[in-house]
Amino acid sequence: MIDASRLTHVTNAITAWQQSWGAYEPHPSLQVAPERLAEALDTYLTRLQGNYPFFHPRYAGQMLKPPHPVAVLGYLGAMLINPNNHALDGGPPTGQMEKEVVKALAQMVHFPDDTLGHLTSGGTVANLEGLWVARHVHLDKKLGFTDAAHYTHGRMAEVIGMDTARLAVDADGRMDVAALEQRLKEGDIGTIVVTGGTTGFGTVDPIADIVPVCRSAGVRVHVDAAYGGFYAILAWDDTARLGEETKRHYRAVAKCDSIAIDPHKHGLQPYGCGSILFRDPSAGRFYQHDSPYTYFTSDELHLGEISLECSRAGAAAGALWLTLQVFPLDMTGLGAVLQAGIDAAQQWADLLRESAHFDLFMPPELDIVTYFPAMASASASAIDQRSQSLFHEAMHTDDEPVFLSVLRVETERLQRLVPDLAIDQPQARILRSVLMKPEHETYVPMLHRRLETLAQTLA
Ligand SMILES: *Cc1c(COP(=O)(O)O)cnc(C)c1O
Repeated sequence: MIDASRLTHVTNAITAWQQSWGAYEPHPSLQVAPERLAEALDTYLTRLQGNYPFFHPRYAGQMLKPPHPVAVLGYLGAMLINPNNHALDGGPPTGQMEKEVVKALAQMVHFPDDTLGHLTSGGTVANLEGLWVARHVHLDKKLGFTDAAHYTHGRMAEVIGMDTARLAVDADGRMDVAALEQRLKEGDIGTIVVTGGTTGFGTVDPIADIVPVCRSAGVRVHVDAAYGGFYAILAWDDTARLGEETKRHYRAVAKCDSIAIDPHKHGLQPYGCGSILFRDPSAGRFYQHDSPYTYFTSDELHLGEISLECSRAGAAAGALWLTLQVFPLDMTGLGAVLQAGIDAAQQWADLLRESAHFDLFMPPELDIVTYFPAMASASASAIDQRSQSLFHEAMHTDDEPVFLSVLRVETERLQRLVPDLAIDQPQARILRSVLMKPEHETYVPMLHRRLETLAQTLA
């Protein structure tokens, strides 16, 4: 919970700084009638209560949680000034902080010291920039990705006029390395996207095995780690509990060409904070522009010179910078937060394996658990409908609601787990929970018990 005295401390400090510049007459057009504001604010705050409780561990649905209070303090302080990190002159302190956090992110994934990178408004734009540079490097070549890759890659390839190729996956939906090796022989693919933690299942493509195949074919590798990038902390730490194969693949990210990481997903930040890193800083040459109205007054690199977006919130850089001072990118800081989610997912997977009412769909690799209702004489449509009604009931019950999400899977994958499954439709919805709050570690037994009860009461 946010400490009101710290909020006041931040606003007082910024107000004092503002007052140090001398008094001036506020304009009447900006004056607000107190009653009118009070009323509007009440309406606003009431309407905000229509949200689901993303902050609470009973919310175990989508990738959603509030920023850490430290990020809020950092954001608030800079937002009151509103620097624009387009150029260093738009806000020298937050521009400098952006360079420092980019360095920290590069170190986290073991990219070199001269890594080129910047923050973006989110993962979609970060990936777009990765693909845009890739397209310049390999003009007229295709972008390869699998069906498990985020849906925005296809869309962004269209935006930048890049042809695409669908790459094959193995039985669990990870990129198939042997098939990739064959496919690259055709010579039409210039870049592939690997995913370091898919949005649906939290699975990691076999990056360590993919990189050598791409290297020998002269193919670029962009890592979409919008969601999972911060797991690199665990991958490089011997004490961290993360699968050995998963660690190996995250460590291989160090050899890839570019990576997108979203601090607004696993970095405790409010929305509006993604990042893109390029291992080869010469990628910066593609960004050159000579806009007449920007204000590059120094010879130092301005972040607006290496970013597709123009205005960017200096507050986003400030918030991340402050957060990383108290949550360093190691197991004493952010790593411990991520470890709790991993442990929660493993613990719930064990409970689901034992359950009479649910089956585990996939062993969780990160902090996403997928499961489905166990049913006698099951059909795809029955599992689909029961998943949907459990999802709905769990959320709408007055007594101890829990919030889940549903995910559509190919029925063939379900059939591997339920051999006598009647395939009466090609896809079926199952249940999915993202355990991205560390409090899930102790809350999982309660979530599980609640779902078991609901499964029993739901005819
Ligand atoms: C969330 C996500 C994205 C999109 O990022 P936004 O920040 O939502 O724009 C892309 N790829 C993956 C793997 C994601 O999880």
